[in-house]
Amino acid sequence: MKVYKDLYKKDIKEIYGLFGSSINGLDSTKVSSNLNKFGKNIIEDKKKTSLLKIFISQFTNLLVIVLIIASILSLFTGSLENAIVIILVITLNAILGTFEFYKAEKSLNSLKRLTSLDALVIRDNKKQVINSNDLVCGDVVYLKRGDLVPADIRIIECNNLEIDESMLTGESENIFKDNNDISETVGIVERKNFLFRGTKVINGKAVGIVCNVGMNTEIGNIALMMQDVKKKKSPLEKSIDKFSRDLAILILAVCVVVFIMSIYKNITIMDSLMFSISLAVAAIPEALQTIVTIVLAISTEKMAKENAIVKDIKAIETLGSVDVICTDKTGTITQNKMIVKDLYKYKAFDKIAYDLDIFDLSLILCNETDYEKSSFDSVNTDEAIFIYYNDIANVKEIVSNNKNVYEKPFSSKDKYSAVISKVKNKSYLFLKGASDIVLNMCSLNNIEKNRMESIINEKSKQGYRVISVAYKETDSFCINGLIFLGLVFLIDPIKEGVDLAIEEVKSYNVTPIMITGDHIFTAISIGKEVGLYEESDKYLTGEELEKLTDKDLLEIIDDVKIYARVSPSDKIRIVSLLQEKGHIVGFLGDGVNDSPALKKADVGVAMGINGTDVSKEASDIILMDDNYNTIVKAIVRGRKVFQNIQNSILFLIAGNIAGIFMVLFTSFFNMPIPFASVHLLFINLINDSLPAIAIGIDDKHNNKKDIAKPRKQNEEILSKRVIKRIIFEGLLIAICTMTSYFIGLKRDMYVARTMVFVTITVARLFYSFNCRGRFSILSRKKKNYKFNKTLFISIVFGLVLINILLFVKSLHKPFDISKLNIKEMIIFVLGSRRCKYD
Ligand code: ADP
Ligand code: MG
Repeated sequence: MKVYKDLYKKDIKEIYGLFGSSINGLDSTKVSSNLNKFGKNIIEDKKKTSLLKIFISQFTNLLVIVLIIASILSLFTGSLENAIVIILVITLNAILGTFEFYKAEKSLNSLKRLTSLDALVIRDNKKQVINSNDLVCGDVVYLKRGDLVPADIRIIECNNLEIDESMLTGESENIFKDNNDISETVGIVERKNFLFRGTKVINGKAVGIVCNVGMNTEIGNIALMMQDVKKKKSPLEKSIDKFSRDLAILILAVCVVVFIMSIYKNITIMDSLMFSISLAVAAIPEALQTIVTIVLAISTEKMAKENAIVKDIKAIETLGSVDVICTDKTGTITQNKMIVKDLYKYKAFDKIAYDLDIFDLSLILCNETDYEKSSFDSVNTDEAIFIYYNDIANVKEIVSNNKNVYEKPFSSKDKYSAVISKVKNKSYLFLKGASDIVLNMCSLNNIEKNRMESIINEKSKQGYRVISVAYKETDSFCINGLIFLGLVFLIDPIKEGVDLAIEEVKSYNVTPIMITGDHIFTAISIGKEVGLYEESDKYLTGEELEKLTDKDLLEIIDDVKIYARVSPSDKIRIVSLLQEKGHIVGFLGDGVNDSPALKKADVGVAMGINGTDVSKEASDIILMDDNYNTIVKAIVRGRKVFQNIQNSILFLIAGNIAGIFMVLFTSFFNMPIPFASVHLLFINLINDSLPAIAIGIDDKHNNKKDIAKPRKQNEEILSKRVIKRIIFEGLLIAICTMTSYFIGLKRDMYVARTMVFVTITVARLFYSFNCRGRFSILSRKKKNYKFNKTLFISIVFGLVLINILLFVKSLHKPFDISKLNIKEMIIFVLGSRRCKYD
């Protein structure tokens, strides 16, 4: 692979020569030859976990280690066949775990590919959008505000180009770039004519030629060094780790007590050891870790199908805790399909060129529309104005004949855009922007100003976006003493279904808040229409925000539903203060300026279609359909995931508690051990895993009450209520199992064990139905109970397995099974059926 270094020192013509390119880009044959010669634009993930590594990691879990020690010890007492089965079962579990882990990782990686970025290039003389992974050296790329730079690029031409390079250099100030030649060797920060992959275009636009791709980019070099950084564990993983640790310690303590007790009762050391081992095996929920991982992976996949791409699994958990969701208006609540409804000209102006007056010309020339775009999926303010004028004039011709001398692009901070243009040898400054802000730049007397203000207010109250237009005859940039030209009224229709989504999100006790740069009256009108704002709610404008101290704002922040005319920095302040008030904040944004707030929020959500690269990069979740509804669905799923994992744990632990009760009881009364280790392993690792996963991914149970409130962030996995339930239900299962045990004991110890094994297995399988929510399947409140097919199948599978063990003779010895007679069979069926809750 060939690499050219330090191309910032070469002039553009030389670089064209190196890559066989020109200002008109590459042709397809050159694209493929450059791909072979200079490589792909992909940063490889060197840290790909190997299957073997995952497999080994399955054994490094503390609980599994205890188990392995236990089974080695049991070698001394049990038969060899027995020990082999134990090893087999543990290995099988590890293989299953490895497979699921691998699958989970793969699906996460494919999600990552879904979120990879586009690049606008010119190839074969045509502008086209390609996946930025497909860029090759020599490609000519167009960049605009909000883009992430897709490769290392030498600038050919640029305008007002402002770049955030902090991710590369740590430099927090934005850097202004140009296309000047550099002759001496300089550091990265001084390479003003060069753009680096991964940096952000904060303002302006550029055309450039790709000089380095993939691993040969500056960030590619750094990526090589950073790949050893360990992934942080999520709060859920941490609390499950803690839970497992506590449980292991508790079990160890009980084991010691049982061990001492049995020695005291004059039992051989080997036998008392076996007691402790059974206890450990019975109590440890071996499959828990794997199940949580699988449940989270499956949930991410499901969310992806519902158009929410989760970039970081941790976000799913946090989503369940979100209780405030901040969104902007344009593109989220409204369609971002602006339509010019009406113009208001301040007075009758003379025509000055192309049969157009100065009002019309200013709107045509002060416009950032990309004229080469053939269709508009979304229509922003400028495009709407372009579409309007394209019907009455040859806009493209006018624009190409009157090149702007200077352009000040729109920014959410200033809320206006301006150009300096030469028309018929006269130099004009044309400016348009937020109605009230531009009005204040104009030299109007008070009466006239009031008259305009009342028109603006009137139209804003009806939901219009109102833009003011102004100009001045000058060749230098200024923003005061302008001459007022008039107003443009645009409408942006509300998205279908947003009102229902807002109603739903409220029913889950999440407060929707709108933060917009638009006029307060426009915002209120739209807020009311979608049910986000009521007369009794508060609103604040950017101006009012500025006057409030943090302390004052904290006092009223819970009542404020709309923030209007805010600047980007206000957004971070609002998010931080909401967090200070104890809220878990979700933030939906699309613009370049939203990225600090997206990062600051507990869950940052970006728009997949109309969002900028920069906002996508800063967020945890990307909505592929830009739909408010999707984020509501994602929140609900976030709540369910935690609830379901809790249910899974309830299912697993209650069964294990039953086992503990049994061992304690028999040990106390000096009776034979009720389990063979192989039985317990079979139950824990094989028979239990499937129902536990089925419960974990259950999205049919309709107990809205369970998930109607946001989860507290520090909530323990097992609340007091769940612990009580676990003990009570564990006891119930134990009673049924004990009954079988006594009946079996009438014949001999082995029959008793088999009966215990079968009863507890079947009881636990049936019990899984009860773990899907607050209520028993038999309770009267089960109205909303929906059938869970996965759970049903896993139960049938479990029943089939146990029957195979019972009826296939050759399995009896390795699995410690005794033949049962018909009477005993009927009894365990009855016994296990009795096991119900509520
Ligand atoms: P939001 O995305 O919250 O609706 P923006 O920051 O995009 O708000 O816009 C803020 C205000 O700036 C708008 O209400 C409008 O008056 C004005 N504005 C928006 N886009 C343009 C533009 N391209 N040119 C001039 N003014 C604009
Ligand atoms: Mg916007």
